[in-house]
Amino acid sequence: MSVQVVAAKMAEVELKDVPTGKDLSAGSPMSPTSEDKSLPGLLTPNAAKLPQASAMKRTDPQQNGGEAFVNRDGTVAEAPRMKKIQFAEQKQEFNKRPSKIGRRSLSRSISQSSTDSYSSAASYTDSSDDETSPRDKQQKNSKGNGDFCIKNIKQADFGRREIEIAEQEMPALMALRKRAQGEKPLAGAKVVGCTHITAQTAVLMETLSALGAQCRWAACNIYSTQNEVAAALAEGGFSVFAWKGESEDDFWWCIDRCVNVEGWQPNMILDDGGDLTHWIYKKYPSMFKKIKGIVEESVTGVHRLYQLSKAGKLCVPAMNVNDSVTKQKFDNLYCCRESILDGYKRTTDVMFGGKQVVVCGYGEVGKGCCAALKAMGSIVYVTEIDPICALQACMDGFRLVKLNEVIRQVDIVITCTGNKNVVVREHLDRMKNGCIVCNMGHSNTEIDVASLRTPELTWERVRSQVDHVIWPDGKRIVLLAEGRLLNLSCSTVPTFVLSITATTQALALIELYNAPEGRYKQDVYLLPKKMDEYVASLHLPTFDAHLTELTDEQAKYLGLNKNGPFKPNYYRYADVPFNPCLLHHDFIL
Ligand code: NAD
Repeated sequence: MSVQVVAAKMAEVELKDVPTGKDLSAGSPMSPTSEDKSLPGLLTPNAAKLPQASAMKRTDPQQNGGEAFVNRDGTVAEAPRMKKIQFAEQKQEFNKRPSKIGRRSLSRSISQSSTDSYSSAASYTDSSDDETSPRDKQQKNSKGNGDFCIKNIKQADFGRREIEIAEQEMPALMALRKRAQGEKPLAGAKVVGCTHITAQTAVLMETLSALGAQCRWAACNIYSTQNEVAAALAEGGFSVFAWKGESEDDFWWCIDRCVNVEGWQPNMILDDGGDLTHWIYKKYPSMFKKIKGIVEESVTGVHRLYQLSKAGKLCVPAMNVNDSVTKQKFDNLYCCRESILDGYKRTTDVMFGGKQVVVCGYGEVGKGCCAALKAMGSIVYVTEIDPICALQACMDGFRLVKLNEVIRQVDIVITCTGNKNVVVREHLDRMKNGCIVCNMGHSNTEIDVASLRTPELTWERVRSQVDHVIWPDGKRIVLLAEGRLLNLSCSTVPTFVLSITATTQALALIELYNAPEGRYKQDVYLLPKKMDEYVASLHLPTFDAHLTELTDEQAKYLGLNKNGPFKPNYYRYADVPFNPCLLHHDFIL
């Protein structure tokens, strides 16, 4: 079945017709380079004229000076100076399993993202008294299927409830399912996935399944699996290999179980962090003969794909979901606006009203944090290096200061610059007793936490993710999540935000799977803006939002197609018209 046919049925949102050349500026990395034929069959009945994804060029991550990056859904990684996967245990045969202790102590290298704490998605239902490794258990679901390895299949009912709750906040995926009823744009697709296994992922997997795909899944992070959700998926017939608290050896074993199975070979990869992709490259390179494409969500994974592409080793097309406009916008501004308070409340129970807070960096994340804190009645100061963002802070009603000017008086310090050593020991020494310090940026080097690990200072772990660092005179500061991202370490991430990413992932899979031979080369592509618009439009009904349609006259006046895309590719959708950080990373929105 052609994706165009599916498209015609699915496109309730009328994003018809052809984009004008004007919207796709010549030379833009996103400009279509050849006749566009499908992707969003989903988007438009006239899919033949839709812009296809186009290769996005980025600078070598090594140029970024060793900063760390995080992917919104929890993967935190030192992207630019990325550790190469070394597959230390590569030669290990998984049927010769090491002892329990051996499993834990195996020295190996996995991506940073797979080991960073991700308590936001942590299971609430761990039966910690059950110490048996899932690898030592024989479990079957109620239909007698045992092709999975999870903590406890008995938790399936609870997991199902979690999934149902997530469905309510993932309207676009639910809409995709409805629209694809009867039509199966992923019929024949065999998707091997490696992402956080959470209720939100379950909604994505079940959507892919409803669209016709078979799925096998492993976790991209050893801490983030919601065991009850994994149980619900296994009960529903999905081959899931994941549990919370995997050892590093378990991590690779699970990935291998997804890939290395008799009578089943993946033809699509959905990855988050790049570990799955690299495992297949290293262990089963011949599989790529049948693989039609890779969809990658994380900053880290995207960097790896660009490295492969640069080295001429990328042998299938890949979609970079991470840099989709909607993903970036929602991840940074709206997600942080929602989750900053949650992170604080869960760790400190602090009251925000009247508190003096300094927010370092007034980019997307900083704007979100400031907005939330202002709404709570905090007195908010901002530090910035960029005069434009600084002026924005002023116009938004915040006092622009140097950190030194307020460091003695503030109750809370938040970093969200993407930079390093923004808060250093000198600042920490001058903070007042009880000051709460945390980071919302990618890197755990924004606050110089290492400088606090000196003999004269005492560390007291007072709660999970909360340390008191005590000076010889008794002064203590409250350090959250040891300087890692507060929201990802200590709170949950709004499901609605994840819905946007998951929808983009689903559409990217559909596009790559259905693209005719030759449309995509062995390169890394961004989804076209029209796809972003489509993802956004699928989320609008949640708000009973009514979109204004251009009249013919208006469309002509603006030189736009009535059905989009509505903005040129260089349009940033941000309040920041120029941002040196974005240029530095060569991000293209
Ligand atoms: P951004 O580039 O829009 O904003 C960062 C701002 O910090 C810029 O305006 C820059 O001028 C400013 N800055 C840089 N160095 C500074 C310094 N020394 N002092 C003061 N200001 C400084 O980036 P963003 O989208 O706001 O993201 C910020 C960080 O948060 C990044 O590391 C990003 O990866 C991360 N992030 C976190 C989450 C989360 O959920 N916590 C979500 C998305 C992004």
